[in-house]
Amino acid sequence: MITIDGPAGAGKSTAARELARRLGYRFIDTGALYRGIAWRVREAKVDPGDGGALGRLLAGTTIDLGDGAVLVDGRDVTGEIRTPEIGELTSRLSMLAGVREKVTPIQRRLAAEGGAVLEGRDTGSVVCPDAEVKFYLDASPDVRVVRRQRELEARGLPAAPEQVRAEIGRRDRQDRERPLAPLVVPDGAVVIDSTGRSVEEVVRLMLEEVARHGCCTRS
Ligand code: C5P
Repeated sequence: MITIDGPAGAGKSTAARELARRLGYRFIDTGALYRGIAWRVREAKVDPGDGGALGRLLAGTTIDLGDGAVLVDGRDVTGEIRTPEIGELTSRLSMLAGVREKVTPIQRRLAAEGGAVLEGRDTGSVVCPDAEVKFYLDASPDVRVVRRQRELEARGLPAAPEQVRAEIGRRDRQDRERPLAPLVVPDGAVVIDSTGRSVEEVVRLMLEEVARHGCCTRS
């Protein structure tokens, strides 16, 4: 089990996906599970502040990761969960105990199959504290804004830099300051700063660390 935590725009998904590919491991995008919940909450028009309605909705919802897809009650919502609006609702919802209690066991079940790279905010600190290798990937705020802007542009959602900076700032604050499973550098994690490093360089550093731990490839 390998975990990669870090803030928005640090390059976690790209690095995790590539690392998993090289090792022949499964890539588990935990943020996508939280985004799937937010998608469902928005679709059902449930007020996140209404604990009863939210609890009932969560109890009746199934979330899973298919082959690169997020499935909510069996429906593939992958193409609909990457908007800034869903990102902010996700950040709000992910502060709630009921939401984390729903998603954490799903992540643990997926990880228990072994040979997995988990990527998110609390994968090394809470979900899999016993992971063999843990990373914390960070980057300077400017680089994170540029990356996030490019990601949005590629999805046909262009946004001004100030808007992206504000969005990232809000999500960072919420993710770092929440009492439950806040974003932290997990115990024993190797910190990598991706500022000025290509994906290839980041993945190479990660592969070196994985090799040091004697983990093996599955492919
Ligand atoms: O990584 P991504 O931007 O898709 O995550 C969206 C939001 O989901 C984060 O801002 C965070 O609030 C939440 N999240 C979380 N724990 C995780 C992964 C994501 O709280 N393990």
